[in-house]
Amino acid sequence: MNINNLPEAYNKADKMQQSFELWRKVPLSKRIAGVQKIKQNLLENIDKYAHAITEDMHKPIAQSKAEVKKCVYLCDYYIDNTPHFLQPQPIETNWSKSYITFEPLGVLLGVMPWNYPFWQVFRFVVPNLILGNTFLLKHASNVPLSAKLLEESINVACDDYPVYQNLFLPGKEVGKIIAHPVVKAVSLTGSEAAGRSVAEIAGKHLKKCVLELGGSNAMIVFEDADLEKTVKKAVQARMQNAGQSCIAAKRILVHQSIYELFLQQYVEKAKALKQGDKWDEGTEIGAMAREDLAIELEEQIQKSMKMGAKICTGGKRKEAFFEPTVLTNISTDMPVFTEETFGPVAVIVPFTTDEEAIDLSNQSSFGLGVSLFTADTDKAQNMASRFDEGSVYINEMTISDPAVPFGGIKNSGYGRELSQFAMYEFANIKPVIVK
Ligand code: NAP
Repeated sequence: MNINNLPEAYNKADKMQQSFELWRKVPLSKRIAGVQKIKQNLLENIDKYAHAITEDMHKPIAQSKAEVKKCVYLCDYYIDNTPHFLQPQPIETNWSKSYITFEPLGVLLGVMPWNYPFWQVFRFVVPNLILGNTFLLKHASNVPLSAKLLEESINVACDDYPVYQNLFLPGKEVGKIIAHPVVKAVSLTGSEAAGRSVAEIAGKHLKKCVLELGGSNAMIVFEDADLEKTVKKAVQARMQNAGQSCIAAKRILVHQSIYELFLQQYVEKAKALKQGDKWDEGTEIGAMAREDLAIELEEQIQKSMKMGAKICTGGKRKEAFFEPTVLTNISTDMPVFTEETFGPVAVIVPFTTDEEAIDLSNQSSFGLGVSLFTADTDKAQNMASRFDEGSVYINEMTISDPAVPFGGIKNSGYGRELSQFAMYEFANIKPVIVK
């Protein structure tokens, strides 16, 4: 990876401004056709792009392929729905004619994480590209191959000029790009610390930002839940991508009456996960993305054990490989409960009343999503408004889907990606009034 110096990065910013002046004038149908080309190129290169993801951050190859296919699904969603989302909307006023138009803002800066190197970028770029914006993208430093191929894959949208440029810069230089006059807004997906830094600089320069930050989602299992199905979901919800997902079920709260049975089945399933070679199609859990991240996780577990947490299975680390781990005897002041744990560690906590479950869930400083498992879906829907979260899933793990708005509250950030709401975050929502 060549590190861009700042003058080179500023040149790229100017180039994206020139592209913006052209791209914004391209008719909507042709911008949508650009996304069709991106989709086609993805379909033709699934193996190549999946290989880059696995090489960069060690996701098992089958899951990398699934990530690229999910980007195809996202393209389809916006190809089908954008004409409706971006239609001028009539409004009732006392003037003779009033309607709202949606215009692009200009050059957007994306700052993206390594955990889903393609998906995170695609969900930011696709709706905004169709809207007419262009992009500078600073990807995480540990996914250079993915970054290079992303630039190639998105620029197929337009034959005449690029609409997307990588910036290979350290995080500390990002502020200087946010300050550049052609950059109109910034979207960061990453840690709380990076979010605070980006928001501060964007605020100083009066630039809008969307922040998709960390999470410590609760998954709540009520006593009438279908135990077998729920345990299966709970293992997937915590262990997929080696636990490195913002929306993973980081705290599993289980009704006391089924706690022992749930724990026993959970431990069995966690032990059975196939951990190993990332290139093997059958591998379910690979190494974590970097050894320093595995060490950080180990420290959170060790501190929690000193405070009384017990290991039911796992707990061992070999370089970046971390065994699927289950912890019990948790108190709410332990790091594994109060902090985000970004690795394959399930924390299983009993509760006795609905009120206690809601309270335990809401104790987190994060608010990305919660999932509730119960036979009584009416009761769960009635409870939904009690959770301080960006989303509530009932009998489903918290998951991202192109049609569903995605984002958090509290320290999980602000703004929304996906669905029609993503199209309005970086739009100039401009009414036209005729008397
Ligand atoms: P990270 O360390 O914050 O890095 C994310 C991106 O921000 C990288 O490109 C990084 O660049 C850059 N960065 C780091 N510090 C910065 C700073 N002070 N100013 C500007 N940019 C900075 O996070 P990560 O470890 O890659 O990703 C894991 C985190 O992302 C977790 O907290 C996870 O929950 C969160 N996440 C949230 C969502 C969501 O949608 N809410 C989705 C996925 C992940 P370098 O790599 O060069 O440091």
